[in-house]
Amino acid sequence: MAYRILARKYRPQRFSHVVGQEHVTRTLLNALEQGRTAHGYIFSGHRGIGKTTIARILAMALNCRTAIGSSERPTAEPCGTCVSCEEIRNGNSVDMLEIDAATNRGIDEIRELRDAARYSPARDRYKIYLFDEAHQITDAAFNALLKTLEEPPDHVVFMMATTQPEDIPQTIRSRCQHFSFHAVKFNDIMDQLRQIAGQEKIAADDEALALLAEAGDGSMRDALSIMDQAIASAPLVDGSAKLETEQIRELMGTAPSPVFEQLMGSVHAAESAAVIERINRLIDAGNSPLQLARQIVRYLRNSLMAKLGGESTELLQISSDERARAARTAALFSEEDLTRFLQVMLRTFDDLNYRQEQRFHLELGLIKLVHLERLIPLEQILSSLPDASGSSGTPGPGSRPPAGGRRASAVGAAPGLNAAATANAPAVRDSSPPALASPPQPVAEPEQEQPSQPAPSPSLPAELEAVRQAIVAALEQANHATAAGLLSCAHWSVEPEGGIRVEAGMKKTMLGLTINAEASKIVRDALRATGSAQAIAIVPAEPRVDSMDGLTATPAAAPPFIAPRSGGIQAIALENPLVRQAQEIFRAEVRNVLDLRESSQPSSRGKR
Ligand SMILES: [Zn+2]
Repeated sequence: MAYRILARKYRPQRFSHVVGQEHVTRTLLNALEQGRTAHGYIFSGHRGIGKTTIARILAMALNCRTAIGSSERPTAEPCGTCVSCEEIRNGNSVDMLEIDAATNRGIDEIRELRDAARYSPARDRYKIYLFDEAHQITDAAFNALLKTLEEPPDHVVFMMATTQPEDIPQTIRSRCQHFSFHAVKFNDIMDQLRQIAGQEKIAADDEALALLAEAGDGSMRDALSIMDQAIASAPLVDGSAKLETEQIRELMGTAPSPVFEQLMGSVHAAESAAVIERINRLIDAGNSPLQLARQIVRYLRNSLMAKLGGESTELLQISSDERARAARTAALFSEEDLTRFLQVMLRTFDDLNYRQEQRFHLELGLIKLVHLERLIPLEQILSSLPDASGSSGTPGPGSRPPAGGRRASAVGAAPGLNAAATANAPAVRDSSPPALASPPQPVAEPEQEQPSQPAPSPSLPAELEAVRQAIVAALEQANHATAAGLLSCAHWSVEPEGGIRVEAGMKKTMLGLTINAEASKIVRDALRATGSAQAIAIVPAEPRVDSMDGLTATPAAAPPFIAPRSGGIQAIALENPLVRQAQEIFRAEVRNVLDLRESSQPSSRGKR
């Protein structure tokens, strides 16, 4: 007898045998028992998860010649033995038509079908039409079908199996019962594979089966077809095939997953050389960069899910070994790290699809991970620095940290020093009328409590943080994501004279576009909602004396931190306390200082 592929040989013949779609089979069985079946069905979901299988079982159940409740057919499940059940199973029933909509999708074919549907079934109770890939049917052809669906003859049932239900016209969908199929769970696939291996007398350990189940990725048919291939290439032990992990891996061209745990370990240790060595060893062993990138993406995704939901989360459809591995990697990194890693690797994977030098792109992607790991803590370290603005006690305006200093140091490129010249920047304030020329210190409306906080008190940072969070949240809620992002990583401080100062690491023009009139209003409202009596000034990275659209201009008054040109910008940079702190922390050297103050020649800016 010819070899029958596993997916066909073990295709379920009863609703109760279908794995992982209980929500569908239960409903259909109930409908059959109550005699309340519909004339149109849509079965949607991924490929290989049982859509046509269930459609066929439903067809058998509808046309089964054995009465429900009889001894051969106690429930609504098809009897499986009558002539009708047999014919449908073998695909030669006159009254059940399977149409491949990918090839018979035109108006002529559908019209023909529709006309034939008017006549009674040849022998059975229903004339059943099953359209596979139904989303491929043209709109005109669907329209031809519409009338029949609107007033279906009693004897007609249409079933449509599709991976893209959204491509089926709404007019059709609303006249059908729609069942959305789930991806089959890892454990369900495992159980099924184990059972089939037993029936086929194939020796296979769980690790090998887990590989097959994972490769199936929610599709039973895919898992079974890889199992077919694995059996075909398996060595024979005592006359029967033996599935081995190594052999399956080779067949699928995948690398063993412990490799990825080691790889991420090297990323965590910031060992670029080790990362590159590992990946090159894998490529040299015959793994394709594309496949490796795909596996890394999967591994990162699993680690992120383990981070979010814990090791036993439903989001992980993998073996328990793999879960433990993902959880160990997750423990090394923060949620943000893993998210960024995944983002970088997804982009790398996309790039690989149309690049020549796949190896180099993969290496580049991995090196980026190492650097991401190294960069992010810098941000955190800097934000935990003691507040270098007025409250630190360092005298004089010169002690003000450079605007965008945090970002600058972390990223190593943003303009920094320039905005130390602060006082003559345009400002948003919460209460002053527009275009009012006022002193640089944003003057909060005089209030009774005002004298109690003449200078920033030591308790302010917490209060400031609360204000910052409230404002950022308000912007996010109002869909001003860019503005929210900008302000959340801006430098917030309290002026010695009172008033909140927000130094955004952005040039004036861009700032005006980002914090536009609407965003400014949201900022002011949010500030007021916090009950703060402070005024707020959002200043750009590039101080100018002219006004900004929608913002209030303030003329220069207080002596800004612009050191005499003769001093040399490099020297000024080195004197800045924040630069010094950064130098100490990162053991960095200031090499190149860009002077971005107005009308200056490009020259200097601290860089590590
Ligand atoms: Zn039957």
